Amino acid sequence: MKQALKQNTTLQLRVACAISAVAAVAGAFGCSRICGILDHRHAFPLLLAANLLSGAGPAILIAFSAASRIRDLLTSETQTRREATQATHVLSALLESLPDGVFFKDVDGRFTRINGAYAKRLELADPAEAMGKSDSDYFDEAWAASARAEEIEVQQSRQPVLNREHLEPSESLGDAWVSTSRLPLLDVAGNSVGTLGISRDLTGRKYTEQALENANTQLTGWVTELEILGKQTVLLGEMGEMLQTCLSEEEAQGVINQYAHQLFTDGAGMLAVMKASRNFVEATSSWGNDSASEFIFPPEQCWALRRGRIQHGSGSSSPARCAHLHKAFSGNYLCVPMMAQGEALGVLHLSVPHGVRDFTEEQQRLAATFAERVGLALANLKLREVLRSQSIRDPLTGLFNRRYMEESLEREVRRAARNGKSVGAIMVDLDHFKRFNDTFGHEAGDMLLREFGTLARSKTRKEDIACRYGGEEFILILPDAPLEVTFARAEELRQAVRHLELKSAGRPIGVVTASIGVSSFPEHALNADTLVRVADTALYKAKHGGRDQVVVAPAIDADPADHPAQSTHCEVTTVSHSAL
Ligand SMILES: [Zn+2]
Repeated sequence: MKQALKQNTTLQLRVACAISAVAAVAGAFGCSRICGILDHRHAFPLLLAANLLSGAGPAILIAFSAASRIRDLLTSETQTRREATQATHVLSALLESLPDGVFFKDVDGRFTRINGAYAKRLELADPAEAMGKSDSDYFDEAWAASARAEEIEVQQSRQPVLNREHLEPSESLGDAWVSTSRLPLLDVAGNSVGTLGISRDLTGRKYTEQALENANTQLTGWVTELEILGKQTVLLGEMGEMLQTCLSEEEAQGVINQYAHQLFTDGAGMLAVMKASRNFVEATSSWGNDSASEFIFPPEQCWALRRGRIQHGSGSSSPARCAHLHKAFSGNYLCVPMMAQGEALGVLHLSVPHGVRDFTEEQQRLAATFAERVGLALANLKLREVLRSQSIRDPLTGLFNRRYMEESLEREVRRAARNGKSVGAIMVDLDHFKRFNDTFGHEAGDMLLREFGTLARSKTRKEDIACRYGGEEFILILPDAPLEVTFARAEELRQAVRHLELKSAGRPIGVVTASIGVSSFPEHALNADTLVRVADTALYKAKHGGRDQVVVAPAIDADPADHPAQSTHCEVTTVSHSAL
């Protein structure tokens, strides 16, 4: 029994020693698997139990303590590594999940790490491809240089640069609008080791902003154009109304000029009207400085007048350039013909100097509308003038007809009576006109009448009224002309008739003479009818006195029987003539 107890104690001691050794080795080498099974919570009671059972020496306990310390240190480092790895994973996941581009650079501006978003901007399949490269490998040289300068500034100042918006130009990647922030990177000792950059793509937002701005600008432009169009429409309407009420071309020209100045404010311009001869056009109005065109030129020099269509030209070397432009002019111009019933009545010419914006379609339309309205107005006035002329003028001689003369004389006499003025009347009869017709034929007779009409118009003032009274009889009304003046004008006319050089069938037809009677308001009559009648009476006297002479009517208070219609205070000139 005693032997059995001793053997059992020896066995316990051996088990305890074995467990203790395993625990010490496990603690010393940090075998995780073993430690996992036999950590100090289990090993120590076992060891204590073993020690108690075996009574082994303190050396084993010291060995176990050292091993446990070493194992604790190794466990802490492993934990730190694990946490660092975990932090790295978190950081990587964070960087890759960001929509913004993130890049790290060393002190020389070379990429050391970029995230996927920035790799996408650089069009790289693998972010690692950017390692060791710099901005100049991807972006335009000038921009890369400015970005590098900014990085150096951040490194030196150790202050971040935040949210700088700029265009990032790149020929290979395409331009992009970005907002970039740069932050300094420092090591634990506070030394600069590079920069961290964050790049946010603003291209979409910028395009939207730009599109909005463009839309606003366009809208503002449309509103402005509509306002201008509205004003132009009003002005054109006003001009049309005023032109309808104009009684003469002169009046119309004034209206046209006024509105042309208001409607065509850019550059210079002029309005040129075709002369009656149609040999040349002449400017009736001009505006602006440095007109590009001559003011008088033949119609053939203008393509618009030749073609009857608007001419839009530019530069100084165009083959279809209007020849009426100054040679030195090199800007843009418009020539718009003013047409009516297929006939060119003139041209509206507009010009802007070289370098100034060309005429827009709206301006061309406005010029065309203006020219069309002016052309129609001028045509209407011409037509009205023709009709009026036909109703008041004798078609053969071009002189006023008798009805017009009578209406005008009535008016002139009343006005003279109001103003205390005179009105002269000169009654003319071509001598031996019947014999002239019989000798040379009616055509020659008409020619003589036409020639006298031309002469009478040339010898009268604008305010005088030269009228074919009937047949070969004529009367000239001279408002405000005293008797002396009237007599002098009559005498001048008589002499001019004698100097008419007429031919029939190529042969001279000799001297033509006229007998003339003169009367004057208020000396000879106090109304129009009497004034004409006494002039006619004086003419009758001139005829009977031998023709080719001027006779003044007797004064109003004189008895005609006592005062034959001979010269009273005016000298009567009697010129011998060869009767026709
Ligand atoms: Zn022209």
